[in-house]
Amino acid sequence: MIDRVKIKYNVGDILEFKKTHPCGGKQWKIVRVGVDCKLECTTCKRIIIIPRIEIAKKMKKRIFENNSEE
Ligand SMILES: [Zn+2]
Repeated sequence: MIDRVKIKYNVGDILEFKKTHPCGGKQWKIVRVGVDCKLECTTCKRIIIIPRIEIAKKMKKRIFENNSEE
């Protein structure tokens, strides 16, 4: 089992959520990482802010992992 608290997220990562956004999109781009993370819907560009620990529960898989050190 994956330790959800320790998953590392990077700005620029693309995540796919289990639930579909009202716009029909499922993929979110991380724009800020912290205790709360800021995600942008890649389809409608709407921004949501959710607690970091909630991401692992909502996430189905990571589409793209941004490994650049910025
Ligand atoms: Zn959307």
